[in-house]
Amino acid sequence: MHYTGLVNRYRSRLPFGPEVKAVTLNEGNTPLIELVNIPRQAGFEGRILVKFEGLNPTGSFKDRGMTAAVTQAVHEGSKAIICASTGNTSAAAAAYAARAGITAFVLIPDGKIALGKLAQAVVHGAVVVQIQGNFDDGMRLVKEVAQTAPVAIVNSINPYRLQGQKTAAFEIIEALGGQAPDYHCLPVGNAGNISAYWMGYKEANGQKSTATMFGYSLEAFADGKLPKMAGYQAAGAAPFLRGGRVANPETVATAIRIGDPQSWDHAWAAQKESGGWFDECTDPEILATQRLLAETEGVWCEPASAASLCGALRDIKSGKIAQGSTVVCTLTGNGLKDPDIVIQGGLKDLIQVAAERSAVERAILAKLR
Ligand SMILES: *Cc1c(COP(=O)(O)O)cnc(C)c1O
Repeated sequence: MHYTGLVNRYRSRLPFGPEVKAVTLNEGNTPLIELVNIPRQAGFEGRILVKFEGLNPTGSFKDRGMTAAVTQAVHEGSKAIICASTGNTSAAAAAYAARAGITAFVLIPDGKIALGKLAQAVVHGAVVVQIQGNFDDGMRLVKEVAQTAPVAIVNSINPYRLQGQKTAAFEIIEALGGQAPDYHCLPVGNAGNISAYWMGYKEANGQKSTATMFGYSLEAFADGKLPKMAGYQAAGAAPFLRGGRVANPETVATAIRIGDPQSWDHAWAAQKESGGWFDECTDPEILATQRLLAETEGVWCEPASAASLCGALRDIKSGKIAQGSTVVCTLTGNGLKDPDIVIQGGLKDLIQVAAERSAVERAILAKLR
């Protein structure tokens, strides 16, 4: 059957009746790719699989939440949506608003936004408002403005966002033959995604989730096992590690450059109930992992996404993640969104030679050894 997006695929497990028309770009249904080289090099006898969310229509997992949020907004008659964004939420909001024929207002921080993401908001015709502040300032302003202006907030404080995002857990369970992994690792910024996955895993196992406020089906289709949830933050933007809000978050992983996570309680519960943990990765570690994944497995994710694998590999090495287990890492966004970061670090590898056969041959032979 033709796949028409996650609202239609999982409608009975989402707060949408049959009468609600999905606003969709056929998001979801992303591949769960088993890593072959990295586990071997790490001496890991278990399995590491990456859920490559960078293959969603606008290149990040935000499309899962956005199809649900915009579907509901349009169903309620909204003519405009608004969000604060480090880049990917605005890209998704812009595209789904275009699809629905409504207006998207996006508040982005000044600077520190990947060029590809900004271009996406522009090309899809969003109204881009650049504020002299960071994401946390933008989030505060969006909440204030939406109190009076006729605009629907589509940040992850909108409960429909997490509803859409939880479907990634359903897909993973299906791909693993009706079973959750032993560990699920992901980057944490605003903390909506880790909350959504935990909700998805619980519901797939027939358990009521703390975030459940709608009366849809909780019929189990998994075998009862729940994963340990591990959330990794960038060291310069790690409120969960510091035990509270971080005033001036800084990291190259701009998608998780957030100091005041909106889903704090749900994310904390996910980590605690599952027997998981939070940890942090430095910028150099994050960039090295992004490069490792691209060079040894052929998968290019954006810096923030690499935090999941970065943390997982460290915890495998220390034994915190047990040998022989199945580990899933969410790769939240596509590396193509932020080529600058790679070019900055990688141009030194460029070989320049004369336009002559002998020069090119010499260059090639030197590399073949
Ligand atoms: C939004 C985003 C995150 C962080 O997800 P949260 O739900 O805010 O924790 C991580 N990586 C990428 C690429 C993102 O776009």
